Amino acid sequence: MGRGAPPTRSIAELGEFGFLARLLRRLPVAPGTVVGPGQDCAVVRCGGRDCLLTVDALVEDVHFDARWLSPRQVGRKSFLVNASDVAAMGGQPRFCVVSLGVPAEYAARQLSALEDGIVAAARDCGAAVVGGNLTRARTLFISITLLAEAPRRRVTRQGACPGDRIYVTGTLGDAALAVHELRRGRRRPAAQLVRRFAEPPARLRAGRYLVESGLVSAMIDVSDGLLQDLGHICAQSRVGARIDAERIPVSAAYRRVCATDRTLALSGGEDYELLCTLPERSVRNLERDIRQLGCPLTCIGEITSGRRVRLMGPDGGELRVGEAGYDHFRQPPR
Ligand SMILES: [Mg+2]
Repeated sequence: MGRGAPPTRSIAELGEFGFLARLLRRLPVAPGTVVGPGQDCAVVRCGGRDCLLTVDALVEDVHFDARWLSPRQVGRKSFLVNASDVAAMGGQPRFCVVSLGVPAEYAARQLSALEDGIVAAARDCGAAVVGGNLTRARTLFISITLLAEAPRRRVTRQGACPGDRIYVTGTLGDAALAVHELRRGRRRPAAQLVRRFAEPPARLRAGRYLVESGLVSAMIDVSDGLLQDLGHICAQSRVGARIDAERIPVSAAYRRVCATDRTLALSGGEDYELLCTLPERSVRNLERDIRQLGCPLTCIGEITSGRRVRLMGPDGGELRVGEAGYDHFRQPPR
């Protein structure tokens, strides 16, 4: 290569996480920042109180296809994906502002339905829409910034220790399976699968309980696939993990289509369940209080001292998994 400035690499070459790692190193630290970037929410001190702050966007043809979700469902989902990040840090959503990018030919009636979906989902989660912005755009997008009350305790992706048990709420893989089937278009997937894609569960009650009880050592919501999001906990906690493939919780609808194949449950993404770790001494207390969560919770493995995430098969041998999870710039739109 010749002299001069190095060639500029595209975001696709760096990948979503490679680019973010570079960006975050350059970000100045502001006073009042309690937990900075790299978590599901930032924790900021405002007027003497800690708040959670998060933002997420849904973009047509990247996150959804307009044939799959009604405008109202798109609105609901765009709020619930943010609420899921708040759940991962045990917070209570309070206020949000909405930025909409809309093609000029988009029907006003549909836009109203989309807004109604955002407002209704916010209300269901105990929050309110308090402002926003509307701009012309080539593709429909919805970006929501959500402010939430912080819990008294703080749980991030950083506290997992070797020996901690790994738990996940609900079931995994349904949303990814719905997308897989919708894309193939051969038949309409089961309603339950489509519902899981349209309506993220936003485990606010479970998240709040898991944080406030002081039982969990680390937590994240599963948005990009179990293995990828567990990888974030492991990287930030400087540990590894061992997952038992057979213990991954899946729904009956998932099993009917995929039988014993757990690929989509491991790396499909869009589950919006909570993934947490807790010390062995807390396991009995958690299992005693499990009804407080309002959803099932399953132990799927253990944190280890190595740095790798290993997936174990039923015979105790290690399994290989093709894709770790979703990276926005390394894979074609879902
Ligand atoms: Mg998240």
